[in-house]
Amino acid sequence: MKCTCGKKAVYYRRYEGSFYCKDCFKRQIEKEIKKTIGKYDLIEKPDHIVVGVSGGMDSGTLLYVLKKTFKNVRKIKISALIIDEGIKGYRNKAIKKAEKLCKKLDVPLTKISFSDYFQEMDDIAKNHVNTCTFCGVFRRYLLNKKAREMGATKLAVGHNLDDEAESVLMNVLRGDVQRFERLGPKPGVIRDKNFVPRIKPLIKIPKREIAVYAMLNKIPYIESDCPYSYNNVRRDAMNILNTMEEKYPSTKKQVVGFFENMESRIKKPKNKSLKKCKMCDEPTNQEICKACQFKKIL
Ligand code: SF4
Ligand code: ZN
Repeated sequence: MKCTCGKKAVYYRRYEGSFYCKDCFKRQIEKEIKKTIGKYDLIEKPDHIVVGVSGGMDSGTLLYVLKKTFKNVRKIKISALIIDEGIKGYRNKAIKKAEKLCKKLDVPLTKISFSDYFQEMDDIAKNHVNTCTFCGVFRRYLLNKKAREMGATKLAVGHNLDDEAESVLMNVLRGDVQRFERLGPKPGVIRDKNFVPRIKPLIKIPKREIAVYAMLNKIPYIESDCPYSYNNVRRDAMNILNTMEEKYPSTKKQVVGFFENMESRIKKPKNKSLKKCKMCDEPTNQEICKACQFKKIL
């Protein structure tokens, strides 16, 4: 099969019915990411974008495209931040991949560990089954804290279309309307000087396409999954969506599109400022932040 440009195709986009060659595919993905950035004003000058990297293909692709796009743009600075959750045999390998990529792209990388603030995930997993709940809260806490200390104006995360569709579905399954606030390319309904706004430039790109893009650009990333990921509602949501997508291509796009259409009705931007946690001073909407509550449980 051939690409519209005449060269040999390497990718077939089912939901669109079109074939892409290597170069056209790469260009198309970059174009779509830039379109998302422009449409939702994800990046403005001056910005210090801290990319939360994990050693995986999504955050690796995000860092690669942002660096490529903004490398010669004055007043846009790109740095990377990685969290070591303390998961033996997994995170250490992933950190090596992230280090390799940052070196290749000449991006400064900062590391921060769960063990300096909480406990390692391997220890938490010995006594608790809901590992991902602890991990998610602690990771969001540390990403915000460290990005703020690095002087970030935005924290970019590698959420792709599949992740977003999973989150929409999970919130529906849990009946959790409040958490819809965390969705979208620029979820920041909270404007607080201690809270670094998050952006998701990959939100329109399916996971499969990120994998192909990463491979074509030789982006180093870890291929194995976290050993605790089996025990995860997200995985169940993913299986449901994959089954649907197989049968009805573009299901994931529709799910995310549904949320976008609803968004203006359910998400009213409010200049909500946050309280300070009584225990650690980090921003929270409760008296004691979730991370400190979890720390107490541990
Ligand atoms: Fe943390 Fe769960 Fe993700 Fe593993 S799968 S890194 S435990 S959130
Ligand atoms: Zn082509």
